[in-house]
Amino acid sequence: MDLHYSDAEQRYRMEVRELLARLLGPDWHGFGALSEGERATFRSEWRATLLEHGLLAPGWPAEYGGGGLTLIEQSIVTEELAEAGAPQFPTANDANGMVLLGPTLMHYGSAAQKAFFLPRTLSGEITWAQGYSEPEAGSDLFNVRTRAVRQGDSWIINGQKIWQTAGLSANWLFALVRTDPALPGGKGLSFMLLPIDQPGVTVRGIKNMAGETEFAEVFLTDAVASDEHVVGGIGNGAQVALGLLGFERGAGGLAAAAAARIEVERLIELARATGGARDRGLRRRIARCRADVHVLRCLALRSLSAGVSGDPPGPESSVTKMFMSLYRQRVTELALDLLGRSALSLDGPGAVAALGPQPRGLDAASATAWVDDALHARPGTVYGGSLQIQRNTLAERVLGLPREPRQLPVHKEPRQEERNAV
Ligand SMILES: Cc1cc2nc3c(=O)[nH]c(=O)nc-3n(C[C@H](O)[C@H](O)[C@H](O)COP(=O)(O)OP(=O)(O)OC[C@H]3O[C@@H](n4cnc5c(N)ncnc54)[C@H](O)[C@@H]3O)c2cc1C
Repeated sequence: MDLHYSDAEQRYRMEVRELLARLLGPDWHGFGALSEGERATFRSEWRATLLEHGLLAPGWPAEYGGGGLTLIEQSIVTEELAEAGAPQFPTANDANGMVLLGPTLMHYGSAAQKAFFLPRTLSGEITWAQGYSEPEAGSDLFNVRTRAVRQGDSWIINGQKIWQTAGLSANWLFALVRTDPALPGGKGLSFMLLPIDQPGVTVRGIKNMAGETEFAEVFLTDAVASDEHVVGGIGNGAQVALGLLGFERGAGGLAAAAAARIEVERLIELARATGGARDRGLRRRIARCRADVHVLRCLALRSLSAGVSGDPPGPESSVTKMFMSLYRQRVTELALDLLGRSALSLDGPGAVAALGPQPRGLDAASATAWVDDALHARPGTVYGGSLQIQRNTLAERVLGLPREPRQLPVHKEPRQEERNAV
């Protein structure tokens, strides 16, 4: 494992840095420094700029409108964006389209599906939500109950999906549905694309504890999906769905570590402002966060190195998911302790990025932003595979420990003769 960048890669980093500095202009202090009014305009202009320079989907092949970059170059681009405090995914649905569905279609989609959906996803005409989870099927993905029944060259879909991130701003759903109820578990599932803007689909926002409607639930009542929009063939949904989850772990690890480091810098500023920097216990906790960021960076380098060697994403990515989600809770709880009672009076601007560290520019002393961050850090141990599921994956697939019994033995009352025998 060589963790050094080549001269050509270092030069590429400098080129990206200079390009971003030029595109963002001399008055740029980070997305966090923009006023609420300025943010919406910036997001749409920045999306167009990234698209124009092949940086919106840096890893997609150029024939689909992407940047055609290598894994290392992609990683450099995303890291430099984080360093510059500029959003990598300007709109709420972009990650679903760029990181999840796009690569899945490139891998499993038909030529017609790629030709139709990929350019429209890049242009922003089609905005995606991920329809995997259901009230009875979150961790146990293959327990999906939403049914799809063939009718001519379409599928009629009935059921409910829940927790769709950016569901209210999406106009298409990629969903895992049951096409053969006679087959158990993962067998009999199919992966379908369907427009949200049709009479059979109702989307209702769900307010999270930070008071935002960042996710939604989707009700499907005789909703229609075209047979042409089944990805990977009928009955192959489990394979496509798991393939998609593999793409979720892309080239963004170093960018996530850079964003976490920037957050610790903000934390240190807060500690200075509140006087917490003089408290020995708090100082130790800040130092631990700084060390954790280093661990995150090492984990990211390791997975980048494995990706460059051509290794598919393996169960080891559970270490990063676990570590990151617990770390986010730790660092934001520390911020609340530094704020003390000020955390109760929400002063200052709110967070501008959901579910992750704030971009450069946001006021380090803003109680509102840190409280938002702390609330957004809570679900980190749930979404994308809960902490317990990650621990099971690590125990069984990395450490080779015995499998957890999946079905608890049914407790039977002893029969009368058994009781008598005791
Ligand atoms: C902020 C956020 C955004 C999300 N975005 C999306 C989205 O865009 N699209 C989408 O489809 N879904 C999304 N989800 C849903 C998310 O993927 C599920 O919440 C997650 O998979 C857990 O499923 P569940 O909520 O049904 O909990 P359950 O699966 O019911 O789990 C409940 C508890 O039991 C534990 N548990 C379950 N099975 C086991 C086991 N075998 N061993 C040990 N412990 C176990 C879990 O770890 C958890 O603690 C999102 C969730 C959140 C919080």
